[in-house]
Formats: sequence, C-alpha cells, structure tokens
Amino acid sequence: MTYMTQYNPATGEAITEIPETDASAVQAAMKRARDAFPAWSRTPLDVRLGCLKRLREHLVDQMDPVAQDIAKATGKVQVEAVIAEIFPTVDTLRYIEKNAARILAPQRVKTPLLFFGNRSYVEYKPMGVIGVISPWNYPLYLSIVPVLSALIAGNTVLFKPSEVTPLVGAVIEDLFAAAGFPPHVVQVLHGGRETGQAVVAARPDKLFFTGSVATGKKIMAAAAEHLIPVELELGGKDPMIVFADANIDRAVKGALWGAFTNAGQVCMSVERVYVEASVYDEFVRKAIAATQNLRPGIDYGSMTYPPQLAVVEEHLADALEQGAKIECGGARQEPGLYFAPTVLTGVTPGMRIMREETFGPVLPIMPFQTEQEVIALANDSDYGLNASVWSQDLRKAKRVASQLISGNVCVNDVITTVANPHLPFGGVKHSGMGRYHGPEGLHTFSHQTSVMVNKGTKPQEINWHPYTPELHDAFNTLTRVLYGKNRSAPFYKLKNLITQVLRTYKNQKTAPQTSSLPQPPQNNQIPM
Ligand code: NAD
Repeated sequence: MTYMTQYNPATGEAITEIPETDASAVQAAMKRARDAFPAWSRTPLDVRLGCLKRLREHLVDQMDPVAQDIAKATGKVQVEAVIAEIFPTVDTLRYIEKNAARILAPQRVKTPLLFFGNRSYVEYKPMGVIGVISPWNYPLYLSIVPVLSALIAGNTVLFKPSEVTPLVGAVIEDLFAAAGFPPHVVQVLHGGRETGQAVVAARPDKLFFTGSVATGKKIMAAAAEHLIPVELELGGKDPMIVFADANIDRAVKGALWGAFTNAGQVCMSVERVYVEASVYDEFVRKAIAATQNLRPGIDYGSMTYPPQLAVVEEHLADALEQGAKIECGGARQEPGLYFAPTVLTGVTPGMRIMREETFGPVLPIMPFQTEQEVIALANDSDYGLNASVWSQDLRKAKRVASQLISGNVCVNDVITTVANPHLPFGGVKHSGMGRYHGPEGLHTFSHQTSVMVNKGTKPQEINWHPYTPELHDAFNTLTRVLYGKNRSAPFYKLKNLITQVLRTYKNQKTAPQTSSLPQPPQNNQIPM
C-alpha cells in the first residue's frame, strides 16, 4: 500500500497520510460501479434524495471539524472554508432536493400542426457511470456538487479527488459513508495523475472535470478516443471593469476580496482590473491602503500548492521586467506558502500577468478611457469564465455586461454567480465547455430522449406513401400558407390540401381515451 502525504501549506508540516488507490484497481471499481448502476438508476428519486439529505445534515453537524480539515489541507483561513466551501455546498444540495423532481420529470413540449394529435415530451435518463475529477482549490465544494448531481440524476460515480488535498478526499469519503449510499454507488479513488488517467481509460459514460486548461485538453483528447462526452470546468483570467460612476469604496473592497480570497486561487478570481482614467489614482490609492490592512492568517490564508506560487513569482518577474510596479506586497511571507497580497500598476495588455491565469494573490490595475475600449480589453483573452462591471448606472452596466464574452458576469460584485444554485455555471473559450448548477446541473448527467406519441388510430399520415402529384401540390400549398410571404392560396389548392388531409382520416378507428398530459414526476417514470 502506498500513501499520499498531506502537508499543511500554511505551516509546511506533514499532517497525515492517506492510502492511495492503485491505478490498476480502477478497472475493478468501474466493474463494481457498472454492476451497481441498474438498481441505483431504478431506485425511486425520493430514496436517492434521502441519501443527499443525510449527507447535507451530517456535513452541517460536522461543520467545525470539516472546516478545520479543509483549512489544514489548503492553507485557507477557516472562515473561508465555511463561507465558500461548506455553505455553498449545502445550499446547492438543498436546491437539488427541492427541484430534482421537477427538473428530472419528463418535460412536455409543443407539437407542430403537421403532427396534429400527437403528444411530445423530453425524457431525462441516467447515463451510467460518471467519472468526476476534482482540483485542490475548493476540494469539497467542487467535488460534492458534481458527484451528488450525478448521483441524484440516477448515475453511479467514480470520484477522484486532488492529490494535493488528499485529506479532504478522505473527509468526502466519510461523508458518503454517513449518507448511506448503497455499496459501490459512489467510490472514491485516491491518487494523482495516473489514477485520473485510469478513470478516463476505464471508459465512463461521461467525464466531469474541474481543473487546468492543460489537463482539460489531455482529458478531452483521451476521451475522444472512445467518444466519451466531457464537461470541462477550467481556468479563468477574469476582468473587473470599474467605471467612474461606481461606488469606488465598494469597488475597492470588492476588488480586494475578488483577488485575495482563497489567496487568489479561485477560477473566478479578479485577475485584471480596468479602472476609468478619471478615478484611477483614487482607486489605486485606496486599494493599496486597504491591502496593507489585510492580516495574514485572519483575512487571508496561505497558498496551497508550491508550483502555483512559482507561477505567481514568474508572472510578477515578467511584469516587472516590462515596466510594471509593485505598489505593495510582492513577496513570500513566513511561514509556509504565504504570499503577501500584491497590488500591481503600470501593467500592459501583453504581459503574462494580464493574459495567463496567475491563480495567486495579485491585483494588476490599469486605466481605460472609453466604454468600447474597455470592452475590447476585457474580451481580448483566451478565457471567458467570469467578469464584473461596476457602475451605479445599471443600464450602462448591463449594456456592457451583455457585450462581454464570458460564461458569467456580476454587476457591482465579483465571483458570486457560481454560488447562486439557480444559475447555470460554466465557461466559454478556454474556460471550458458545458454547464452545471441550475436545471443544467442534473440535465448534464442525463441522456435526453425526445419522444413523440401518435395514438396510432389514423390509417396513415399525410406525408406517407403513395406520393402523388396531389400530395406534392398539397405540401406546396401548406408550406406557402404557413411560412410564405404571401400566406394565401387559391381555393382549388386549399381544397386539394383538405382532401389530402382527409385521406389520412379515412377509415379511422375510435381512439381509446388516454391522458394527453405527461404524468406528474414519479421517479423519472415515463408519461403515459
Ligand atoms: P489540474 O489540472 O492540475 O488537476 C486537476 C485534477 O486532474 C487533479 O485531480 C489531478 O490529479 C487530475 N489530473 C491531472 N492530470 C490528469 C490526467 N492526465 N488525466 C486525468 N486526470 C488528471 O488542476 P489543479 O491545479 O488541481 O486546479 C487548478 C486549476 O483548476 C486552475 O486552472 C483553476 O482555474 C481550475 N479551476 C476551475 C474551476 C471551474 O469551475 N471552472 C474551479 C476551480 C478550479
């Protein structure tokens, strides 16, 4: 048995060892997950939701020790473990509890005139075994939400937590045990890259990945071999746009929280700030003063992963070489992986710190002159995860928001779209593909089947054989009347159309009376 060491990045101490799952054991786990699938997918939804509710309640009961473990494994301050990990997790679970029956129920849709008398609906069915691979920055929230969404949609799950925070992987395994899921419905595979690769190679029915762009590309390439659908939740380089008419004090506080919470290791961190030139000096002055008041270990934690700290230093070095100025911070702090929150000015769009994901506590600020200029600057990025627009003129803020190429936009706030479980979440461009949270959060783990029901009592349909000149003529008339510029037709053409329609009803048997509406949702049962 090999073990993974969990370090506390805030102190550098080794705190525990977690047994690693041998990559060769993943195939056997997949077999168990496949065997568990038929019974779990047929388990009534309220029983599945009962497991979710037990997990939610147990997590709340165990909030303090869980927050302590998260803080120890990541270096974040404990209050952030509660605010940004435990709270949004249980809030999203409650959303699923309340809405799953509605979201997973077959959805009735309209049927066009051509198919008069038919009924149409969309059915949502479990896909099979879902592979979920998670990162280290929010190791609880970014694991439990996709795993539980997949489970409630009726799938079984192979879950691989990050090797950087194995202690949280073990905490999550305990939560699954407390929830009372049947054996092998959800299995935790502890390990690093090889274990993740083995999950992909085991050919799950869908892969849900949260992590870096580089790994996302590899996973997508490996999944393409077997046409495994992927959802990729990747990195960001989120712009913050501050207009002169914004509440500047609030915007400064928002910028600091957006850039420094979780030591800047948020996929939706504020990574570049554009401030309208007339308030730029005021904004920078206030941002420096407020940053200098932040207290290590209280207002901000340490970084989590040594290679990420190295990226921060590389980006800063590149920026300084090209003329940027560190206004405050900019250096490691003792102990562990602390890095002082940093305000950077004199930045230009070509610098690495304005183009690549820094994922650390750095706030680069540059001025802009016009609305069109700042929209272009914000959109000039490979990424498109989140963005924020700050103005007290909400019409202007919304006008700008709608021109940003981004999966999410906040107005007069940062990051928070992800924490609203009603809003679909995901990125555009290199920030990823697919959406979860909201109804999409369950639909993304479902096969959709479109069904059209014909009572089968007419002897034939209008479009069936035999093809005749009259049928051809009738469809010409129908197309013109329904969709043409001139929606009229001569009487003899309409008469032919009616004759062709009546042909389909000739010798019709009486239909048995059945309900025309889908039945209310009962454990994903098909509507009659
Ligand atoms: P990472 O890509 O290094 O690792 C993520 C996970 O993938 C880990 O569990 C890792 O073991 C696994 N992995 C690595 N190589 C693999 C491979 N070849 N095949 C299968 N699995 C493999 O990412 P990270 O450093 O853990 O996380 C930080 C990144 O995640 C940042 O870029 C951040 O922006 C992004 N992120 C995105 C979101 C989002 O929702 N969009 C949320 C949080 C973090």
